[in-house]
Amino acid sequence: MTPTLISDIKCYIIRPDRHNLVIVQVNTDKGVTGYGCATFQQRPLAVKTMVDEYLKPLLVGRDANHIEDLWQMMMVNGYWRNGPVTNNAISGIDMALWDIKGKLAEMPLYQLFGGKARDAISAYTHAVADDLDQLFEQIDQIRAEGYQHIRCQLGFYGGGADGLHSTENPTQGSYFDQNQYMQTTVEMFRAIREKYGFSFEILHDVHERFFPNQALSFAKLVEPYRPYYIEDILPPDQNEWLKQIRSQSATPLATGELFNNPMEWKDLVVNRQVDFMRCHVSQIGGITPALKLAHFCQAMGIRMAWHTPSDITPIGMAVNTHLNIHLHNAAIQEHIEVKENTASLFSKIPQPKKGYIYPIEAPGIGVNFDEAKAEDYPVVYRAHEWTQSRLPDGSIMTP
Ligand code: MG
Repeated sequence: MTPTLISDIKCYIIRPDRHNLVIVQVNTDKGVTGYGCATFQQRPLAVKTMVDEYLKPLLVGRDANHIEDLWQMMMVNGYWRNGPVTNNAISGIDMALWDIKGKLAEMPLYQLFGGKARDAISAYTHAVADDLDQLFEQIDQIRAEGYQHIRCQLGFYGGGADGLHSTENPTQGSYFDQNQYMQTTVEMFRAIREKYGFSFEILHDVHERFFPNQALSFAKLVEPYRPYYIEDILPPDQNEWLKQIRSQSATPLATGELFNNPMEWKDLVVNRQVDFMRCHVSQIGGITPALKLAHFCQAMGIRMAWHTPSDITPIGMAVNTHLNIHLHNAAIQEHIEVKENTASLFSKIPQPKKGYIYPIEAPGIGVNFDEAKAEDYPVVYRAHEWTQSRLPDGSIMTP
């Protein structure tokens, strides 16, 4: 194969709707351009600096065909490895290189990986409301769209903040009470099953709001309602406790969106301490490590549910679909409707039909970015209050 030399790399940071998004563009001497997602919405300027000042000078003039070699070099070149800024920057370039390879081969990415393992991937979306009646309305609407899997949450992560027994002069923050959250959420599961039976799958995200023993109690309390999975029942630094939880409950567990480093998942996978791995593809460094992680999980009977939140570009969403169509151990894809301004910047938006997402049948990732419009939506930094989550006594908790 003749070399495909990298001629330029650009990093765009934009805020078309609520979230900051980061896109990397790689140009080549063959006139083929690739796009990748490097979104770290809370720290977009740090990712852009990493791409512009450190990775671009390293890569311009090199052969884009050698993705594996370039990925390994990007990861070790700064000597200090991993971390969300470095990994997202590497991911933006890695995805763009896979996009270029697919365009040169005239194949959609899932074909380049080895072809289909399924026709379409099951999708789930979010129902979130402050009370049960509003939640039921949302569930009815989502089911009418054809979804068979729904993530159900009563209130924000950790539940509602009403009636908390807080201190006299509380420090600013996003407050919640773990016992109140546990009680209202178990009641939510009971009420949903009473109304709908087992006619659809319930997913739920704890978002690391429990102490370890509370997590164990919660897993046991929701077990009779047969959730599809409970997500992030513990913060990553307490994952050793998953062993105890699994020894006492059959509730399926999912985790991984905060992982950056293979050291964070190796033991969990080898010891089969989760049922679903939910890493965020750009956060672990892109498609190249994602394929390896998925194959590692497959050998251990663990299924994939790549994190696909609202702070991801349609490029990242489409990458997840290509992975899910190809990987035999892919289970489900999260989906949140893309807002209008964001949609106007990308050539294609992955969209579920009756609860399934189908791959984009175009060469590469299949989603191009309209860089001419990037300047219309400058990035805006806002202090994220929801990540200042606090218990009633004012102590800060993992968000
Ligand atoms: Mg989550």
